[in-house]
Amino acid sequence: MTGTPSGEVPLLFSGPDAPSESDLYKCVHCGFCLQACPTYLETGLETESPRGRISLMKAVNEGRVGLTDGVIRHWELCIQCRACEVACPSGVPYGRLIEATMAQVETKRKLGLIPRIVSDISLRRLLPHQSRLGMAVGALRLYQTSGLQRAVRKSGLLRALSGQLAEMEESLPAIPGTTFRATGQVIPARGEVRARVALLSGCVMPLVHGPQMHAITRVLARNGCEVVVPKAQVCCGALNSHVGDLETARNLARRNIDAFLDSGVEAIVVASAGCGSRMKEYGHLLREDLDYAEKAGRLSAMTRDIHEFLVALPFEAPSGTLDYRVAYQDSCHLSSAQRITQPPRDLLQSIPGVEFVELPRASVCCGAGGTYTLTERDFSLRLLDSKMNDVEETRADVVATANPGCLLQLQYGAAKRGLPIDMRYVVELLDEAYRAEDRQ
Ligand code: SF4
Ligand code: SF4
Repeated sequence: MTGTPSGEVPLLFSGPDAPSESDLYKCVHCGFCLQACPTYLETGLETESPRGRISLMKAVNEGRVGLTDGVIRHWELCIQCRACEVACPSGVPYGRLIEATMAQVETKRKLGLIPRIVSDISLRRLLPHQSRLGMAVGALRLYQTSGLQRAVRKSGLLRALSGQLAEMEESLPAIPGTTFRATGQVIPARGEVRARVALLSGCVMPLVHGPQMHAITRVLARNGCEVVVPKAQVCCGALNSHVGDLETARNLARRNIDAFLDSGVEAIVVASAGCGSRMKEYGHLLREDLDYAEKAGRLSAMTRDIHEFLVALPFEAPSGTLDYRVAYQDSCHLSSAQRITQPPRDLLQSIPGVEFVELPRASVCCGAGGTYTLTERDFSLRLLDSKMNDVEETRADVVATANPGCLLQLQYGAAKRGLPIDMRYVVELLDEAYRAEDRQ
């Protein structure tokens, strides 16, 4: 469909979640953002750049272009890494624009069968319900530990059914025996109490990275924090927002607001960059909600990424030594959405024995991006491949990062290439150094 130059302009974006015109028309098409955009760098195509995507949003908004599959496709290929926001001298809030745009096209997207099934099941039926998610991850662990996974892989059955399905199965993370549960527990501070904080447990992270969640509470306690883990908390809603399902995201946000604001803490600490970024923007997400707008703003103001929190506290540098060469991959939702780049590096460089090495193009997305690994598999793997070339260049023993999606993606990248490189959370390494100190 083309536009209607007759005068009457059918605005194809509509409703309270439509991209705001003041945000859209901030873009002056200067192109400074192009070299920061991973999908532009991969394709060299204007339509796969921030400027091109914004132009399409404007064209649709003005009725010059219809919401065709081809147009939607360019927005779908955006990882929502928000690197363009950092590069933009005009302050275009691209994250808000693409979130609002995806909400407009949510029901019109044409995903492949497998990504649609996986994404619908995980986003709508599992993530909002921690007990169901726990059962699903438990079943996955049984599949992995019972020998069934080995048998399925050996049989080649999945590959015969679908190469994509087999490849997705191969990228499943190994589920550990230790999980982390939000039960309303209070973890006491070690020594003098310096702060009382609440911890976001999250949805996937406590099940897939349970040991690391325990490490996070140990690091907080070691630095004098009493840690409250509210039982009523739920998934932050970041993944639902990513695909434009803002209604579910808002419902989850309201439940978290009720769970956290009553916990009597001075800060809400979040160890996953994507969740921290989402919670810091609850104020915007619930701006039209008369009952929750003010509370959402308050929760956002209390939310702290764990690296920024520890450095501001300030944390105590460990005296235990780790003999690793460590590179750091910026998680987009930490570096671009929250603009936090130095604190994770400060934490790593405080560890005696760590040889810190900068990863070339550390701020370029690894291809994880919310549900991107499921819905845009090919592109996600192209970006991962470029990232792993850079990782190999560092000759690091360990690559540290700050987000579960990035960690899993990098782990898969290393496994595919047979690289003996450990992928770890920054705070997990700090915990290891504190434990080495305790043994001294
Ligand atoms: S988003 Fe910003 S940097 Fe990119 S073209 Fe528009 S104004 Fe320029
Ligand atoms: S969010 Fe990332 S992938 Fe999307 S347009 Fe901006 S830089 Fe490109």
